[in-house]
Parts: sequence; C-alpha cells; structure tokens
Amino acid sequence: MYQSSDAQRGRSPVALRGESPVSVIGAGIAGAWQALLFAQAGHAVTLHERGDDAMTQATSHWAGGMLAPYCEREVSEPVIMRLGIRSLDLWREHFPQTPFNGSLVVSHPRDRADFERFAKLTSGHRRIDAQAIIGLEPSLEGRFRDALFFPDEGHVEPRLVLPQLHQRIAASGGTVAFNSEADPAEGDGVVIDCRGLGARETFPELRGVKGEMIIIESDEIELSRPVRLIHPRWPLYIIPRADHQFMIGATSIEREDNGVSVRSALELLSAAYAVHPAFGEARIVEIGSGLRPAFPDNLPRIAVNNQRIAVNGLYRHGFLLAPALAELTLGYVERGVIDNEVMQCA
Ligand SMILES: Cc1cc2nc3c(=O)[nH]c(=O)nc-3n(C[C@H](O)[C@H](O)[C@H](O)COP(=O)(O)OP(=O)(O)OC[C@H]3O[C@@H](n4cnc5c(N)ncnc54)[C@H](O)[C@@H]3O)c2cc1C
Repeated sequence: MYQSSDAQRGRSPVALRGESPVSVIGAGIAGAWQALLFAQAGHAVTLHERGDDAMTQATSHWAGGMLAPYCEREVSEPVIMRLGIRSLDLWREHFPQTPFNGSLVVSHPRDRADFERFAKLTSGHRRIDAQAIIGLEPSLEGRFRDALFFPDEGHVEPRLVLPQLHQRIAASGGTVAFNSEADPAEGDGVVIDCRGLGARETFPELRGVKGEMIIIESDEIELSRPVRLIHPRWPLYIIPRADHQFMIGATSIEREDNGVSVRSALELLSAAYAVHPAFGEARIVEIGSGLRPAFPDNLPRIAVNNQRIAVNGLYRHGFLLAPALAELTLGYVERGVIDNEVMQCA
C-alpha cells in the first residue's frame, strides 16, 4: 500500500513488541495517534504532555477537524491525498462513530471562476443542483444554485476526539502523563517526538503558520457537514459542532503571534453571513488562533534515527494525516519499513 524502498525494506526491526518501552512526547493529534497504535500493537507506551488535559497549549485544540483529502488537493501535494485517504480508513476503523457524510463547497456568483478552478484541481466530487443541496442541508434552501459535494470526506470535533484518544490509549494499556515535560534526547527505548512547534531547537526550520478561528452559536440554522465557501484568499469553512455551535475557520497567515486581527474576524464572520444571513444573529462564543507547525515545503516528515523518531510538520493536515503517519512509524519500528516520501533517515 505504501511506497517503500526495496533497498531498505529488509532493515531489521527497531524494537520488538514488549522488548523496549516506547515514549511519545506531545499529546496533540500527532502524538495521540502514535501512542494509540503502539499501545494497541502491544508496546509499553507512555505519552508525555507538558500541558494539562485541557490541551489548550496544543495547535490541535484550535483545529477545525476536517478529514478532507479531496478538497485539500487544491492547495497541497499528492502525498497529502495518499496519506489522507489511508487515514480515513483508520478513523473509520478506530472511531466508527466519526461522521463521514461528506463536505459541500459553495460559492457566490462573483467567485465563480475560483469555484470552477477548485472543481478542476480536485477530484472525488460531484456537482449538485439547488434541489440536491436542500436534500443534504435544508437550512441552505435558496442560498446557492449549485455546489460541489465530496461524499467520502468526514470531520471530527478536536476538543472531543482528543480526550477520547487519550482515554483509548489508557484503555489499551498505555499511560498518559499530563503536566509531564519530557526531553526526546533522554529516556530508554523508542522515543517518538511529536512536540509540534515545541521541537524548534531540534528543527530550526520549523515555523508556525497562524490560523484564526471563531466559534459561534445559533439555533436558527442546522448543518450536518462542513461547508466550504470559495474565497479569493483563504479556504474558509463552517463546521457544525455539538450544542448548536459552529466553527468558522480559518485564516492562514505567516506570522507567529496568537492574536486575531479585526480584519480576519470580519472576513470570517462575513463568510458565515454570506453562507446564511441567519448567522448574523448568532452569538460569538470564542475567538482564537493556533500556529500550524510547518516545514519549508509544508509537508509532514518522519525523521528517523534508529530509536529516535520525530513526527512533525503536519501543517494544516494534522487530523487528516496523524493516523497514517502513526501506521508508518509503527511499520518502521516493527518491520524496518521506510516510506520514501515522508521518512528521512539519519
Ligand atoms: C485554525 C486551525 C484550523 C485547522 N483545521 C484543520 C483541519 O480542519 N483538519 C486538519 O487535519 N488539520 C487542521 N489544522 C491543523 C492541525 O491543527 C495541526 O496540523 C495539528 O494540530 C498539529 O498537531 P501536532 O500534534 O503536531 O501539534 P500540537 O497539537 O501542537 O501538539 C504538540 C503537543 O506537544 C506538547 N509538547 C511540546 N513540547 C513538549 C515537551 N517537551 N514535553 C511534553 N509535551 C510537549 C505541546 O504542549 C502540545 O500539546 C488546523 C489548524 C488550525 C490552527
């Protein structure tokens, strides 16, 4: 399924099950999936997180949680789609309750050219008319004359799924240690460094790409899947969450502060209002931002040096890619398998 190097396929395992402990550092989405797959495979896993279980220090806390490999093809390399499609299977297998009811992409008449461009650059969609839009999302009646429907995409709610992952790790025999800062250079056995931007001293080329988001609440509108609105600058979207809440995301700004500008807030709120004017009456619950950890090529990387492994650079695709990256790391540790596209060996 994965591309692997013939020359390196015969490498010996790095650690056999039960042979040496596995420490995962960082309990964001990358580290949580690593810890889960290693614990389920029978390794003695400890997941260290320097923050508390609210996870507000993690970029993952701020994410939209879209599992959208087909839509993301517009702005990303083919490897994101390859790993993303594999991740969809893993989400389905491990979290069968994950909604896989697709994504909708809509545009206003002035952005028609960008809409057509989006349709050309992506696959896995079908064009649906106004009637079919109502069938999927009755609240959008009369709003758009057509849309692109990506039926195979899903979404998770990050602030619900992270604690579920942590509980699942513990239920699979692993230990989750909060308020536990760890140094990847120390410790016995296999160490998997998933510190996100906290790994800067190890990877000086790592940068943070700011994503601003707003959570609003309205009981006048119901959506059951992410709706993306074609926008000339950013892929903007509205994602339904529990308790009549909606996450509006996200900007993408090459700046490393945690503020949210008035301009960004206006653009995000205008996007929601453009999807449905009833959002104008919604209550603002939260405005915030996170820094996406990214390497210069915006691609994820698994850097391996025998028992020291770093998984980082998940950029705007952490929820989409984390399961597949964890599977690749497990394959490397247990069978010495190398994926040439994402692994770098010392
Ligand atoms: C607004 C926004 C929207 C997004 N939407 C999506 C989306 O819809 N779909 C998607 O797939 N991705 C999305 N992303 C991207 C996604 O959030 C990131 O790719 C992902 O969160 C990165 O996860 P991570 O585990 O690598 O890093 P983090 O989530 O930052 O986790 C790293 C953890 O390591 C901990 N840590 C650091 N140093 C140490 C140490 N020494 N010891 C112990 N712990 C340590 C930190 O406290 C932190 O909890 C979005 C991002 C943003 C900002």
